[in-house]
Amino acid sequence: MKFVDEYRDADAAVRYARALERITTKTWTIMELCGGQTHAIVRFGVDELLPGSITLVHGPGCPVCVTPIELIEKAIEIASRPDVIFCSFGDMLRVPGRSKDLLTVKAEGGDVRIVYSPIDALTIARQNPAREVVFFAVGFETTAPANAMAVYQAAQQRVGNFSLLVSHVLVPPAMEAILSSPANRVQGFLAAGHVCTVMGYTEYEPVARRYRVPIVVTGFEPLDILQGIYMCVLQLEQGRSEVENQYRRSVRREGNRPAQDLISKVFRVVSRKWRGIGEIPRSGLALQPLYAGFDAETRFGVADRTADESPDCISGAILQGLKKPFECPAFGTGCTPEHPLGATMVSSEGACAAYYRYRRNEISAAS
Ligand code: SF4
Repeated sequence: MKFVDEYRDADAAVRYARALERITTKTWTIMELCGGQTHAIVRFGVDELLPGSITLVHGPGCPVCVTPIELIEKAIEIASRPDVIFCSFGDMLRVPGRSKDLLTVKAEGGDVRIVYSPIDALTIARQNPAREVVFFAVGFETTAPANAMAVYQAAQQRVGNFSLLVSHVLVPPAMEAILSSPANRVQGFLAAGHVCTVMGYTEYEPVARRYRVPIVVTGFEPLDILQGIYMCVLQLEQGRSEVENQYRRSVRREGNRPAQDLISKVFRVVSRKWRGIGEIPRSGLALQPLYAGFDAETRFGVADRTADESPDCISGAILQGLKKPFECPAFGTGCTPEHPLGATMVSSEGACAAYYRYRRNEISAAS
């Protein structure tokens, strides 16, 4: 397949692995930030090609995984109302709350619908003026422009029965939280190419300088990831800490300015709680005061709800690169994709789901 096969060429992958062996003289730990990269690494065995001195750890870049449990509880409460049509991407429906998930709400008669875009939810709102339509706006900077556009259009078209349950998070503050932790072991980052397609990478430059850590903007195919790792290791070996762009076919340094303008028109930066990690200052987005009328938390009076995580789930340590999924006692036994305890086992981008899908046989053979 054009533009896919070229990036999955096995011979080229082996050549990259040999080149990495030639330049590597020390042990290095590198974190890929995006759950899509994690899945590609585990699915294609990229980590198994690397020299033993290079360790990959998996970061918090799966938006479903880092959505805190109280947001799930708020979604469940809103979706259970008879006057509400609750719209969401499919991944969110099986993320466990305290006692149930959104799929259970749907099975119990709630009007919960899977949509592929917030604009689809806005269309549903226009078609159902007597119902409240809520879109679960989960994601990193990647999905923020479409969510901002939905609210902007709702305001322009005076669609009063549409609102967003916002759970937007931002990548650079999460990187700083990881690097500031006394337990940090990350020495270099593969940044997520799609986030940088929107935001560019100027905001990573102060992070690289302050923490003396190389950051390589990287794509999602196996050869993208191997090249990103090579560029990162080369910087580490040469004592450099710069931001470099492996994903040039999509990312420009300044990013997509119109998309950034729309995000800042509709959203403002706020502190956000990350599932398993806790609150990170200035790490998320909330609606600007001008668009506060589209905030579902206020509209349905659920802003102050709180909930505790399952004590058995160690996804917080996994999302910070401190543990691997197979180190969780519940992995593959108490926690499976059919009966997940944590979001990292549910999401298509979650690290636990990736190991369960592609590695569980070798993990159980080794244990
Ligand atoms: S295997 Fe399940 S319980 Fe363990 S960290 Fe992953 S999601 Fe949480």
